[in-house]
Amino acid sequence: MSSQTDASEDGTVEEQATMQERHESVAAEVLPDSTGLYVGGEFVDAAAAETFDTVDPATGEVLTDVARGREADVDRAVSAAWSAFEETWSGYAAGRRQRVLTAVADTIEDHTEELAKLETLDNGKPISEARVDVRGAAEQFRYFAGVVRENPGETMSEGSRYGQVIAEPYGVVGQVIQWNFPLLMASWKLAPALAAGNCSVLKPAEQTPLSALRLAELIDDVVPDGVVNVLPGYGEEAGEAVASHPDVRKIAFTGSTAVGKRVMKNAAETVTDVTLELGGKSPVVVFPDVDVDRAVSLVSAAIFYNSGECCEAGSRLFVHEAVADELLDGLAAAVESTTLGDPLDEETDLGPKVSREQVERTVEYVEAAREEGGEFLVDGGEPDDATLEDGCYVEPTLVEGLDHDSPPVQEEIFGPVLTVFRWDDYDEMIELANDVEYGLAGGVITDDVRQANEAARDIEAGYVWINSYHDLVPGLPFGGYKQSGIGRELSADTLDHYRRTKTINLSLR
Ligand code: NAP
Ligand code: MG
Repeated sequence: MSSQTDASEDGTVEEQATMQERHESVAAEVLPDSTGLYVGGEFVDAAAAETFDTVDPATGEVLTDVARGREADVDRAVSAAWSAFEETWSGYAAGRRQRVLTAVADTIEDHTEELAKLETLDNGKPISEARVDVRGAAEQFRYFAGVVRENPGETMSEGSRYGQVIAEPYGVVGQVIQWNFPLLMASWKLAPALAAGNCSVLKPAEQTPLSALRLAELIDDVVPDGVVNVLPGYGEEAGEAVASHPDVRKIAFTGSTAVGKRVMKNAAETVTDVTLELGGKSPVVVFPDVDVDRAVSLVSAAIFYNSGECCEAGSRLFVHEAVADELLDGLAAAVESTTLGDPLDEETDLGPKVSREQVERTVEYVEAAREEGGEFLVDGGEPDDATLEDGCYVEPTLVEGLDHDSPPVQEEIFGPVLTVFRWDDYDEMIELANDVEYGLAGGVITDDVRQANEAARDIEAGYVWINSYHDLVPGLPFGGYKQSGIGRELSADTLDHYRRTKTINLSLR
């Protein structure tokens, strides 16, 4: 493991100031002007006039403060969204919505560098990965602009009956998202909701509200007022109020399984439809025929991309005995050469985690793995590097020899920790691979097509990659089995999660 800023005995303070200064100067360039609640096309203060800080996890410095929405603000946003739906958006035919979505995509693309820097500052992800997110966000709007006219309805005639099944938008939807892909996830939510003809009240995560607010600022001229409302705040306040509001007709949530269950219970009170994109603990299976170098880079990306802060992270490795030693040596070497450091640096592989809380969560699981008798191939934890001590950094961990029932194997760590298992019996391996409460994703690495397809079908998960990982393409639906969620994003069918069908039965008699 290397870091870009090698601390010298007396150079420590100077190096630290360099990262901080650099971040301050980029912040001065890209921080949004408006950090209020975006309601009805305007930035406004919260009713209680409260704010909260959002922090740069690379330096530990406060970036800015942001309005703290609560129930009264959610009421206001929901009512602004209904007004926009009734007065404007419901009158926009598909082609007109398509033009709006395309304009949003263009706007995002035109501001790629700025949005990427903002995302890196607020979330800590390496700038190279932040650019991938921004391009993906634009792609979402472009994709849903393209499918706006899909699944428009059906007609049937039988005897004297003429039936129509039409798809109607819900009107106002509530969307609550997490912090690991803030702008990308806002786009995964807003694009299909708007394409299907709804207005949205979106609550970004408290750790990363800035890119959604900047998006609101940027699209203010191209999206009619009130169609998109962005309501930063805390989960138990703004989040809970959005997800249980009686006038919200549909809830889309991305986050942890624990909060997802609560959202679903709350939704039962008003019998509101819910889609949930929740946690994961995904297996990556390596067969004996692999090119080991290629497998090393796939396995490494599967767990370490975005510092392990991916719901689909391949966090349990099942490697065949025949290649295990070679692959694990290669993986350990790859980890050792990973660059942990300033996320604004183009060369950085691993930035900080999003918050102190997430560092502690990862470290606790690493310690639990030690207590469980884990054998550490690479022992991570917090780096011993004075230049990084104010940030939320965690080094990668590779551990084997854990009982598959132990908490570090069963529970989502959401950090750069890979638990390793060797296998030689296929059926036993698949049984273990499926022995978690999650079922979001999985990976299979082999050039044997028959074997690859068998394993992909045997893994109980909503998305399985063969010889790649994290590669999400609009058009191929993404979502979980088991406790990883309900519903699918990224495809034309996602529109159906944002519409309800109405049957009109006309008598011709
Ligand atoms: P989280 O705690 O569940 O938070 C997610 C969102 O819910 C945040 O906006 C949060 O607000 C809000 N929230 C908290 N309590 C709420 C409540 N009682 N009612 C309504 N909303 C509430 O999740 P996280 O830890 O931030 O995010 C990581 C999790 O997301 C992981 O489990 C990961 O696997 C999952 N994830 C899933 C997918 C997927 O597509 N399946 C994608 C990415 C991440 P605050 O931020 O203010 O707490
Ligand atoms: Mg932040």
